Amino acid sequence: MLVMKNPTLDWQPSFSNLGATFSTNCLPTPLPAPIWVASNEALLDELGLPKHFFTDESFLSAMSGNTVLEGSCPKASVYSGHQFGVWAGQLGDGRAISLGEINTPLGIRDIQLKGAGPTPFSRRGDGRAVLRSSIREFLCSEAMFGLGIPTTRALCVTGSPAKVYREEIESAAVVARVSPSFVRFGHFEHFASIGNIEAIRALLHHVVKTHMPSLDMLQLNDKQLAVGFLEETTKRTAQLMADWQAVGFCHGVMNTDNMSILGLTLDYGPFQFLDGFDANHICNHSDSQGRYAYVRQPQIAYWNLFCLGQALMPIIQEQELALQALETFKSLYPDTYDMRMRTKLGLMDTHVNDRELVQDLLSLMDKDRVDYPFFWRRLSHCVLESSKLVHAYGPVRDLFIHREEFDDWILRYGTRLQNSDKQLTSKQMMQTNPKFVLRNHLGELAIRQAKTGDFSMVQSLLHVLQTPFDEHPEHEEWAGLAPEWASDIEISCSS
Ligand code: AMP
Ligand code: MG
Repeated sequence: MLVMKNPTLDWQPSFSNLGATFSTNCLPTPLPAPIWVASNEALLDELGLPKHFFTDESFLSAMSGNTVLEGSCPKASVYSGHQFGVWAGQLGDGRAISLGEINTPLGIRDIQLKGAGPTPFSRRGDGRAVLRSSIREFLCSEAMFGLGIPTTRALCVTGSPAKVYREEIESAAVVARVSPSFVRFGHFEHFASIGNIEAIRALLHHVVKTHMPSLDMLQLNDKQLAVGFLEETTKRTAQLMADWQAVGFCHGVMNTDNMSILGLTLDYGPFQFLDGFDANHICNHSDSQGRYAYVRQPQIAYWNLFCLGQALMPIIQEQELALQALETFKSLYPDTYDMRMRTKLGLMDTHVNDRELVQDLLSLMDKDRVDYPFFWRRLSHCVLESSKLVHAYGPVRDLFIHREEFDDWILRYGTRLQNSDKQLTSKQMMQTNPKFVLRNHLGELAIRQAKTGDFSMVQSLLHVLQTPFDEHPEHEEWAGLAPEWASDIEISCSS
């Protein structure tokens, strides 16, 4: 393994110097003939990394795991978790290797290579990721960021002709992903499961000190700190769920090892943005029971937080205190969700009947499988004309089958909007209801092209998804409804 000198990056090891209990030094395994598949210039700039990064062979080599940048200290960390509601025991970074943390204008960022080869935690896996899933993770991380939803980021994808064996033979790729921290609920669960209370305490202090400065400042004792941390993670997770539900995002594998303690969207696998609205939609073909169906996500998040609370119990000790911290979810989630939905509707103030207005709309959309993103964007346009009510909303009405029921609903909505400034309302709605989301078929088209060696759609889709509220008239077709064949796309955990 070559070590490459690079004076511009000042690395700190991930997990500080917490030691071997938390992570194991572990070098990436080189891949033959690496190439750039996708690059994120915007993030490169935000991170203050050198402009020549994506044209430089040595960075290509480093991002594909073929060389190690001088000063970086690649590591894989250990965690455990509940998968599909069942305790799965030890998991860990089986195919993700953290190169270390760098100081950036955004703050401390961990850079992780996903698919860079086996680690001590790979179990029976090969430590690799395929081109298909790497492109999906790359695009969706940045799509979420563009939508203003907390997420880990993606700097680039590199590819290689090396074969990877899944349901079929695919080619290998590596995503370089970037996050303030990749610590999961499962990290805490791991140390609780093996009874290592000192490790829980050390991880707690590390996370709070590094990522929750306002909590750190309070100089709390350990018990108070653990409660404060649980409450903070609960709040962030509640807000994240409100974001996901409002935008129509299904994660697909909300196992506790895929839950970020910072409330970031983490580990993009079989995710999907809803096309036709179906509250019970299951995007993961491996999820036969529908545990992670769209409508269940907030409940599952709460269940996962409960697992985190349980893992912190050796420090919190009093069950009542943990329950109180978790209780925050029960009001913060619905309140935030209501607020998001009001904003989507362009309602600037609150009214007691708003929740009912939203629920009735969603029931109707569910019954008629109305396209979720399309509905909201059209509504944002039609609001401008809303003085003549039912007629002005014709283009939205056309999306429904039960049109009389829609007419009843739009009358209620029109009344609610009566005194608002239509220009302002429409403008706000356009900034809330994206024109572009990463529908499954768009990702699929980009992947099909990429498999032929043409990465241009990945790159232009990235650009559009990073600014999803803009019009991008040259890519109008990407704002359209999903084609018939989209319903045949099967996404499973295999990646
Ligand atoms: P996921 O369902 O992707 O969140 O993965 C669950 C666990 O399996 C994590 O510990 C991963 O690191 C591990 N894993 C998934 N795919 C692989 C692979 N190809 N090789 C090694 N470990 C893997
Ligand atoms: Mg995972």
